Amino acid sequence: MSAYVGHLAAGTQVQIMQQGNQTQITLMTQNAGQQQSQSSSFATGVWKLPPTLFRTTSGAVLRLEGDRPSFIQLQAGQLQALATPPELSGAEVLPLQPIAAPAASTLEPLQPLPPLKMGNMSMQMQPMTMQMGDMQLSMGEGQTTRRFCSQCGQPVAAGDRFCSACGQQLQV
Ligand SMILES: [Zn+2]
Repeated sequence: MSAYVGHLAAGTQVQIMQQGNQTQITLMTQNAGQQQSQSSSFATGVWKLPPTLFRTTSGAVLRLEGDRPSFIQLQAGQLQALATPPELSGAEVLPLQPIAAPAASTLEPLQPLPPLKMGNMSMQMQPMTMQMGDMQLSMGEGQTTRRFCSQCGQPVAAGDRFCSACGQQLQV
């Protein structure tokens, strides 16, 4: 997930967050010690490039680079998608800083999970085993047994009949 923050004016901040195919924009205004925030989501698609923030005569316009560019007008605490690309030639570009994703959505360290069951399918982590009806799939240790040549001690593949290092015949 990507997120950016920019400053529009004194006490006004905009936070832009990519969430799946949506872009969530939060406008935060600090006014006489009170913080107000306003949030809207727009279906912009996944960004191909970082967003750009322009200062305009009426406020600011955010350009989001999805499958096709989207323009969101930020004006007087309002967020509004623009149907037509605004005139931005000569508009001042305001810096946007990438920010870490909010703490709530950061991934917790991996912890052993209880088996997950869905119909006739169950899945378990560490070691990873997956069962679907009569079929079972498992990964990790315990599945691959390593073999070594009894003559020279070199590792040999499970199906090998002869040691590739010394030619010793192996017991299959
Ligand atoms: Zn050998």
